[in-house]
Amino acid sequence: MVVTASALSEAFLQQFQTRHAPDCFRAPGRVNLIGEHTDYNQGLVLPIALEMACYVAVASASHGKLRVYSSNLKQTREWPAAKIGSALPEHDWGDYVAGVAQELARSGYEIAPCDLYIRSEVPEGAGLSSSASLEVATALALLGHRSMDKLELAKLCQRAESRFVGMPCGIMDQYASVFGKEGAAIQIDCRNLEYRAVRLPPEVRIVAVNSMVKHELGSSAYRERVAECNEAVAAIRKANSAVESLRDVTPECFKQVQNSIPSTPRKRARHIITENERVSKFSAAATAVDLAEMGRLFLASHRSMQHDYEISCEELDFLVETAVSLKGIEGARMTGGGFGGCTVNLVRPDAVECFRKKIISAYEERFRITPLFYECTPAPGAGALL
Ligand code: ADP
Ligand code: MG
Repeated sequence: MVVTASALSEAFLQQFQTRHAPDCFRAPGRVNLIGEHTDYNQGLVLPIALEMACYVAVASASHGKLRVYSSNLKQTREWPAAKIGSALPEHDWGDYVAGVAQELARSGYEIAPCDLYIRSEVPEGAGLSSSASLEVATALALLGHRSMDKLELAKLCQRAESRFVGMPCGIMDQYASVFGKEGAAIQIDCRNLEYRAVRLPPEVRIVAVNSMVKHELGSSAYRERVAECNEAVAAIRKANSAVESLRDVTPECFKQVQNSIPSTPRKRARHIITENERVSKFSAAATAVDLAEMGRLFLASHRSMQHDYEISCEELDFLVETAVSLKGIEGARMTGGGFGGCTVNLVRPDAVECFRKKIISAYEERFRITPLFYECTPAPGAGALL
């Protein structure tokens, strides 16, 4: 489904019974190929922006409110526009909108009364970043004709999610939604916030498989992992005060200091440090069209999340094991925060259909759940719809 500006405008006008013609904006979801939980450790990640996106239409209004309708949820939320700076979180989806508006207001952008209409193609809570795409599309809609530096935009949306929504996330999701490149993955260095495009060989397709489960553990475990990584850094700093984040720790350095780190933070650190290496190696393998190496790194990344970072679950492990046992599948791993959501798979073009059928039947037999498939083509980052 591709939502055009005219379809969005029509839906907007029906919803709000207004004569104002809305402006329309698009911000994509993303799938992360490799580099999981490394972003908040100042490390490397390699996402692609998706064709699936969140669309927001906006028009000014005279009711004094910031009013928003989600056509996915068929719900409305509203706040007095002039008082958005003092809005408090209500622990539901409206927080993503209010959080962005509040950060804009804090940065000196006045939030004028308006109506927002949201329609998203990004599945919610599946690890494809429906939240960041909602934040970025909302920010663009509220900015309207005012411009903002792209990096500032990504950082502002990240602040909205960490401060207002209360999820201490890294920068990857918002960055990928803003800077996504058509036809390429982007390797982001979350320390200096620069990126480079990495072309993917046409000999493999990127297929995300939605496990359709989301275990409740997710958000509390995320906070726990952030804290455990900080604990590892604190232990390492006792021996080497130059270390500010796990990004500063090389594999050699880790070998020397690992015994001084308590066992759980040590495992978390080992995942982050080896994962950063895998991202660099994966980008090199993609450029060299070394499919076997790309696949090996995918599986090694999954194993590291299974055993060291401990964020996988039975369903994701099953999807990965089944995928890598099939012909034409070069690699598979879980992607996103963990405890459910999607796996990402490197699939030979002529094996895609067979992969789909075999995964569906195996997963249905094992869990009585039908998984969903998304063929992922790297799409451009966020912007206005014409
Ligand atoms: P992910 O970003 O991986 O999809 P998150 O848990 O970070 O998962 O964000 C999902 C949340 O984002 C939803 O529970 C909802 O609050 C909000 N959200 C996403 N898309 C929409 C939408 N179209 N309308 C309203 N809220 C949405
Ligand atoms: Mg999210």
